[in-house]
Amino acid sequence: MCVGESVAAAELAARYSADNPGFVFATAGIHPHDAAGFDASSDVPRLRELLRESAVAVGECGLDYHYDNSPRGRQRAAFAAQIALAAEMHKPLIVHTRDAEEDTRGMISEAHTAGVLGVLHCYTGSPALARHALDAGWSISFSGIITFKKWSEDDLLRLVPEDRLMVESDSPYLAPVPNRGKRNEPAWVPHTIAKLALARGATPRHIAAVTATNTQRLFGLAFEAA
Ligand SMILES: [Zn+2]
Repeated sequence: MCVGESVAAAELAARYSADNPGFVFATAGIHPHDAAGFDASSDVPRLRELLRESAVAVGECGLDYHYDNSPRGRQRAAFAAQIALAAEMHKPLIVHTRDAEEDTRGMISEAHTAGVLGVLHCYTGSPALARHALDAGWSISFSGIITFKKWSEDDLLRLVPEDRLMVESDSPYLAPVPNRGKRNEPAWVPHTIAKLALARGATPRHIAAVTATNTQRLFGLAFEAA
């Protein structure tokens, strides 16, 4: 995600929310894959404008040392600039982290010092990094990956306290079983909720309710939870 895509997201949210307020919300940020093209002097003011007008969070931003699509130094610089912007605008962060645990720990601490909350999205990292984020007051979000046959980290699904648990589609990627491999859509999040419920010994209805409440709280959203 770059600034142009952040603008497109804001337009999409405005279009769908015109008749149905709260149907779609947008965020604004620079993905680590796009950090090489990040230019603070032009991009930060445009992101600031989107956050002032409608975007509910900064992100997704973060670090991806798995694909290394952008140089790591540029990834850290873009992430640091977005932490500062989140602090300035009093918005939460949506953080992508892959194979970058040590630096992600440091960035979460930096955000914590600046009074910024966030969520580790589509989380598949270590229990230690999850605990570090939780200690900073952050939330953890799980995607369809937890329904895959190769997933074996149910302890991670139980580690997150109920008031910090979130779910997501990560559409169009990572469609949950039984739709794995198809183009994902938010309508399939209940499959991820069902897996979380099973692992935690709760009902899907309960997990759906708490994750909706947690999402509303972190992003300051107004919508009717089903
Ligand atoms: Zn991501």
